[in-house]
Amino acid sequence: MAEGTGERGGGRDKGWRLARRLETVRRKLGTLERRPGAVVVTGECNRRYLTGFTGSSGAAVVSATRAVLVTDFRYLTQAKAECPGWEIVRQGPVLLDTVAEVVVGFGEERVGFERDHATFALYEDLSSRLKGFELIPVAGLVDSVREIKEEEEIDAIREAALLTDRALGEILPFIKPGVSEMDIALELEYRMRKLGADGVAFPAIVASGPRSALPHGRASKKRLAPGELVTVDTGAVVGGYCSDLTRTFALGPVMGEQEKVYRLVLEAQLAALEACRPGRAGKEIDQVARDVISARGHGDHFGHGLGHGVGLAVHEGPRLSPTSDQVIEAGHVVTVEPGVYIEGWGGVRIEDLVAVRADGVEILSTFPKELQVL
Ligand code: ZN
Ligand code: ZN
Repeated sequence: MAEGTGERGGGRDKGWRLARRLETVRRKLGTLERRPGAVVVTGECNRRYLTGFTGSSGAAVVSATRAVLVTDFRYLTQAKAECPGWEIVRQGPVLLDTVAEVVVGFGEERVGFERDHATFALYEDLSSRLKGFELIPVAGLVDSVREIKEEEEIDAIREAALLTDRALGEILPFIKPGVSEMDIALELEYRMRKLGADGVAFPAIVASGPRSALPHGRASKKRLAPGELVTVDTGAVVGGYCSDLTRTFALGPVMGEQEKVYRLVLEAQLAALEACRPGRAGKEIDQVARDVISARGHGDHFGHGLGHGVGLAVHEGPRLSPTSDQVIEAGHVVTVEPGVYIEGWGGVRIEDLVAVRADGVEILSTFPKELQVL
């Protein structure tokens, strides 16, 4: 992630940003039902977002006045460097034993835990250690704050998107008849790592011919053949932040029907990009793309939502889908990815990553969108 260097106002400094995140979460904590006085944060992305800690093990405990990160010996030095403003507590042999001790030390009787990031085992283990405390399931506390991105976060996502575009551009010569889907996926992941990605956001989807009708067709040993459509869906991680991009290519000769479906999906995608602006509900934006596709008789062939939020996680809120009432706001980063999938024939999906701005969207994906025949 690009850390700002501007000293003026200190507004772009990491410690300042972490303090602001903590303050927002504390404010929300005070408005929750049943008013938990403290909350235990166990979701990995939430822990990272809130504390700045990039290690793989630990838990954060927050109250109105205290903020503690519990982690083990391996990470103590790293945590002290990464988490300005946080008390770092070294965990004993069992993480939850130490977390419970910290909670007891806070002196709050009502303690929230992240219901969407807790296993039943974690709940049981926490309850058995905190007898006499009221454990309150909390939903979306940190997740909802994460949905509105800071400019520095958008910078990292943009960087991940550009790197992905570049990697896909560089491996285009590999997308040709005779090469297996798996080889293309490997080539792509290798290029992304070579270009400086921390890693891949998810295993690349490469689906060719009839397999392109599988919206999430993992790359297989199938070899590409002339006349097929090939869908490539991939993303990189840069500074902890993900990108997500899909393009569908054609291996010549292209049939009229393939071009027709491609143009339809592109038309739906462009209409949805135009519709994606603050104040609109996720389902309204989804409907714009769905209407374009349905009008041409392919409504049943677009069986997934239009898009999803992207950030520290590749799938997060908000959702653009037929059931999403959530209103889109400036600072959201979402995908716009309509598709048409016809069993036995193939499919087309076109996916861009966008940052929602006050007056529309900034499209972070720069890879060309006209049908490329390879
Ligand atoms: Zn994707
Ligand atoms: Zn996606």
